[in-house]
Amino acid sequence: MASAFRSSTALVLVFGVAVLCSVTPVQGWSKEGHILTCRIAQNLLEAGPAHAVKNLLPDYVKGDLSVLCVWPDQIRYWYKYRWTSPLHYIDTPDQACSYEYDRDCHDQHGLKDMCVDGAIQNFTSQLQHYSEGISDPRHNMTEALLFLSHFVGDIHQPMHVGFTSDEGGNTIKLRWYRHKSNLHHVWDREIILTALKEYYDKDLDLLQEDLEKNITNGLWKDDISSWTECKDLLACPHTYASESIELACKYGYEGVKSGVTLSEEYFDTRMPIVMKRIVQGGLRLAMVLNRIFSDNHADVAAT
Ligand SMILES: [Zn+2]
Repeated sequence: MASAFRSSTALVLVFGVAVLCSVTPVQGWSKEGHILTCRIAQNLLEAGPAHAVKNLLPDYVKGDLSVLCVWPDQIRYWYKYRWTSPLHYIDTPDQACSYEYDRDCHDQHGLKDMCVDGAIQNFTSQLQHYSEGISDPRHNMTEALLFLSHFVGDIHQPMHVGFTSDEGGNTIKLRWYRHKSNLHHVWDREIILTALKEYYDKDLDLLQEDLEKNITNGLWKDDISSWTECKDLLACPHTYASESIELACKYGYEGVKSGVTLSEEYFDTRMPIVMKRIVQGGLRLAMVLNRIFSDNHADVAAT
């Protein structure tokens, strides 16, 4: 498959155009959420997997995966990538507050596996085959890495596994403090931006530092091993999606109707959930990449 990633010059061009063209009503974690997830993950990679990941990145990002973690949101409405649009989320039955792969993982036309859980499985197995030296030449492994890294982030955003009729909160219009927003966007971005403004002097590095401190030596120290436990890489995303819809019901939708104004109280009680999900996404992405590239295949050159 011809790809923009074959030359980094082309990618810079394509990436630039993508930024200009992106009018995306339904995204995933905001740029900030994806950057945090990917930076946390990349910092936890073992030597071999870290090397393999760097090999797959275009030169101009200088080994920094997080620079391109938002890329799948920027290209999803391009003709060539329109098929990836349903891969960012899962629509579950209204009020069910549960997720079942066979029932829910499909696009709006009923095409099976076309959801964020199916996408994670697909790109995980593409990268596994690549790592084993048996990749399908039609697949672009740089794209597979970027999609996987992005979708592991998205599946942790609770409102990305939301109710069908309100499109994961997108149609629930409301106010976030003084400006207009919607419930989905509150979870994608508003809470993160408010946290940055209130506590971190708008500095993403400081927020990242704080999250990482709490992984090694704080709030989440005792939870890490259970969060990253996974017997079967292709089955574990089911759990992440189930966690998300449960959180969406308990904290996302709870007490929220169209037209309300959400402010301090909602922010104070939901912000810890958002931060925990970003960190869980990062830890689990690291676990997946460490497992995929754990063998002696790390030196496979990018193709
Ligand atoms: Zn997304």
